[in-house]
Amino acid sequence: MADASPADTRVLMVESSEKIASQAWHVQRAHFYLASMRRFADELRVDGFEVVYRRSNSFRVALREHRAEFPDDAVVATEPNSWRARLLLDELGVETVASNQFLCHHRDFTNWVNSRKSAGYKTFKMEDFYRWQRQRLGYLMDGDQPVTGRWNYDAENREPPPKDGHDRWASPLVDPLDDLDHDVLAALPDTCTGQSPTGVWATSREGALRRLRHFVDHHLAVFGPHEDAMLSANWHLAHSLLSPYLNNGLLLPSEVCDAVQAAYDTGAVDIASAEGFVRQIIGWREYVWGLYWMSMPEYRDENALGADMPLPPLFTGGDTKMNCMSCTLRGIDDYAWAHHIQRLMVLGNFALTAGVEPRAFLDWMSRVFVDAAEWVMVPNVVGMALYADGGRMATKPYASGGAYIDKMSDYCKGCSYDRKKRVGDDACPFTTLYWDFLLRHADQFVRNPRIATQVRAAQKLADADAVRERATAVRVALRAGTL
Ligand code: FAD
Ligand code: SF4
Repeated sequence: MADASPADTRVLMVESSEKIASQAWHVQRAHFYLASMRRFADELRVDGFEVVYRRSNSFRVALREHRAEFPDDAVVATEPNSWRARLLLDELGVETVASNQFLCHHRDFTNWVNSRKSAGYKTFKMEDFYRWQRQRLGYLMDGDQPVTGRWNYDAENREPPPKDGHDRWASPLVDPLDDLDHDVLAALPDTCTGQSPTGVWATSREGALRRLRHFVDHHLAVFGPHEDAMLSANWHLAHSLLSPYLNNGLLLPSEVCDAVQAAYDTGAVDIASAEGFVRQIIGWREYVWGLYWMSMPEYRDENALGADMPLPPLFTGGDTKMNCMSCTLRGIDDYAWAHHIQRLMVLGNFALTAGVEPRAFLDWMSRVFVDAAEWVMVPNVVGMALYADGGRMATKPYASGGAYIDKMSDYCKGCSYDRKKRVGDDACPFTTLYWDFLLRHADQFVRNPRIATQVRAAQKLADADAVRERATAVRVALRAGTL
């Protein structure tokens, strides 16, 4: 509702105590949302709006109270970002208007998918959607062709961590906490987990805009090459750390892409970095958004591989000797954040190959990440990381052993386990579980051309029985919290 005016608009904002108490949220996640809301309310007041800020049990109760107090108000909301919120607004008779948090409305996404199907395509890949987005939005384009003649620089963006030191990435901005932050923190329930906020995450529009500028000036030029790398001594590398602001509306995708386009136009960054980043925003982010709406409500509960292990204790504060997991989980405890490859190839890969129940893993991730939202978590967790949607989001399961983690990180050097071994007490659990996963699901994947070679290699293993036995021992240790 960018065109709302103080002359004819009263703003209703609701803090729901039921929502706050409903989960053991990471304290930085809970603080980020509440502090952002309260600052936004203050900014609106400065702009002349009357803001009715209700602290109620729930949105439903707050709306009832509001309607009783202002019976002549027509309540209008921006289109919500979750399935449940949409059902609730429909039930409560709240009118909605289009949101500017996405550049492709989910209806247009569904139309695009249907047009692909009508044209005879069997798939609707992210890359095709991304090119369509580039053409319609005009980023890094010359007419209807990419500005350099090449659409995608992904191949250049898969480098392992640099060997010559870890200090090439500027530190994130940090702002001191103020009274509003301390008020929010003081009121949070004891059930919150993780380390208290340090000021890394901005909770105002001004702070979010400064962080966008900081990213473009200091990180964007080096964003591409080490996008997939992981380091124990550096939690952020060149990642933008912008997802929380894009997801709660402090930043808009259009202004983020405009800033990247401007940096490219002035020669401040090369095409590989600019394209790599624009692809994340108008490609992946919007593809995931469209897929969520196209596939709900069933999507959230899918479990195509029949995974049934309860969430192992190491995810909720337990110790582990696996250095990759320990570093990633420590980062989440410290910042409520991990980067994409840590989410996909460490946490997700482990949950996939161990057979953790998708809903349990999804719920855990949704509690502990500062940028979590159902529309983005469901396709990424249920679809991409756990293959629980049977391949709608990913063309193959993202399963790998310790070799991938060793190539893309420095974790294995400091680990008690041996990433090359799949059997024995010191075998890397990732490596064991990877081969065991291929053996367990051979029938499902042997005809998938993207993974068939690995499945056949697993079927030829001379030590397949020993792998299965070690995998059972790994699962027992995992449940006992001794892995
Ligand atoms: P950068 O690496 O700087 O990327 C730039 C932006 O691209 C991000 O801010 C994000 O808006 C967008 N983006 C990139 N990849 C994706 C993607 N796969 N899906 C959606 N947006 C993408 N992202 C969330 O915003 N919230 C989540 O709860 C979330 N959960 C995830 C869970 C799993 C298992 C996986 C594999 C990915 C998840 N992602 C999620 C996507 C991605 O990992 C994060 O967006 C990214 O790590 C956020 O850090 P950043 O802003 O520094 O991203
Ligand atoms: Fe992780 Fe295995 Fe490497 Fe240890 S050896 S850090 S468990 S991948």
